[in-house]
Amino acid sequence: MKLRTRLVVGFLSVTILPLMLFVAVIIFFSQMQVKTIKQNYGVTGSNSYEILVNSMTTLGNAAEPVYEAMKQDVWKNPAILTDITYLEKVNNKLNRMNSYLVIRDGNELTFVGSDMGYTIYKMLPEYGNEESSSEGGTYIGGDIQVLARQIDYISDTEAEASVFVITDVGRVIPEIGRLFQNLCIAATLVLILTAGGIIIWIYRGVAIPLARMKIATQNIKDGNLDYELEVVSDDELGQLCRDFEEMRVRLKDNATEKIANDKRSKELISNISHDLKTPITAIKGYVEGIMDGVADTPEKMERYIKTIYNKANEMDMLINELTLYSKIDSDNVPYNFELISVTDYFEDCAADLRMELEARKVVFTYENEVNRNTKIVVDAEQMKRVINNIVSNSLKYMEKQEKRIDLRVKDAGDFVQIEIEDNGIGIAVKELAYIFERFYRTDTSRNSSTGGSGIGLSIVKKIAEDHGGKIWATSEEGKGTTMHLVLRKNQEGFANE
Ligand code: ADP
Repeated sequence: MKLRTRLVVGFLSVTILPLMLFVAVIIFFSQMQVKTIKQNYGVTGSNSYEILVNSMTTLGNAAEPVYEAMKQDVWKNPAILTDITYLEKVNNKLNRMNSYLVIRDGNELTFVGSDMGYTIYKMLPEYGNEESSSEGGTYIGGDIQVLARQIDYISDTEAEASVFVITDVGRVIPEIGRLFQNLCIAATLVLILTAGGIIIWIYRGVAIPLARMKIATQNIKDGNLDYELEVVSDDELGQLCRDFEEMRVRLKDNATEKIANDKRSKELISNISHDLKTPITAIKGYVEGIMDGVADTPEKMERYIKTIYNKANEMDMLINELTLYSKIDSDNVPYNFELISVTDYFEDCAADLRMELEARKVVFTYENEVNRNTKIVVDAEQMKRVINNIVSNSLKYMEKQEKRIDLRVKDAGDFVQIEIEDNGIGIAVKELAYIFERFYRTDTSRNSSTGGSGIGLSIVKKIAEDHGGKIWATSEEGKGTTMHLVLRKNQEGFANE
């Protein structure tokens, strides 16, 4: 569940649920109390609401039957009011209903059923007020609130006498007091339980994923990038966990790549040191020879100097390659693109290669099946670098007596496909995918004395891609290798500035 939904549900539950529970509790307790009140006070007929909210009426109604019965008794025999047993009995009955008896004979109180009677007797209505009593009694307000029902009669001393059924309505019926007490306790419990439950529910939804993320973060902080954070929910925190997990995977990939790069850089440094050390050792040897007078003839001297020159050239080439690589890798080579004819360009290229290769006793063939008008957009100098690099690899990794290199330029629809094939040592299938990676050298070439840094083909690939082209190799071990370079033909018309 989404965090927002969870909070909305939480809010509604904290407000509506306790309210509903509270109403249910009110109804339950009220019904119970009303039942008790009806039983205790003998109230009949009145509805539950009235019993609960109007204690005066309730108590008044409760005392009514006792009052009526006594009225009958007094009419039949007023002398009954001198029977103390009768009076005590009636008074006891009334006591249960917050009521008591007071008898006033002339100006004297002959019976007082409760101490309260002495406090209020002065406020009691005059003789002859019985009429109002029959309408529910006389209400006496003030500090003490009572309802007085009256029966007037002439006493045996011939005085005007009244018997009062006095109901104390100022006090709340104890059952109602208890009801309020119960309701307060119930309300507190309902609130605490629902709010507590909801808070635990929301807390679990937030705290558990946070705790798991904390552990995951700690692991990453400690460098353990393998610690996987399981995504269990679909809410905002679940999304956060998913992003966190993605971040971990990326960090891990970067770390792995960095380790691989570091390893390759170390390899490169060791290769460069080795590659530079070989010509330097040779140069040193020849220079020492000259200094020691070993080159004692002009021919020997010339041979020594020529070798020194060649070795210095080798070093120069290696350093140039490294410089170019660092430039090209950081996109610092300014390309000079121009629209050129495929046929013209590769014919020139083939002529240069033929001269160079034939001097090295390599059989060179050139085929071109592309239309004369076909043009491509290239940086002529950089493209030459690509061709030279591929050809120099073909020469480097060639052990055959009859050396052969073929250059073919083919038409491939919207593209021109250039193939350079040699009959060299070939490349194992499992290594083919890696030869364009920087600093990669196959096992065979690493173990041979050919020299090389593993940079050449990565430069070739970068230049081909910067031309919008593609390069790949096919090879058969022992038979030879073919490099395939694909370049897009010019179609939209290149505006050469
Ligand atoms: P290097 O300086 O080692 O020649 P390259 O990047 O030019 O580096 O080539 C990468 C590796 O690919 C070489 O070390 C070699 O093992 C292999 N390779 C490239 N061209 C050929 C080829 N024509 N024949 C056989 N192996 C080749």
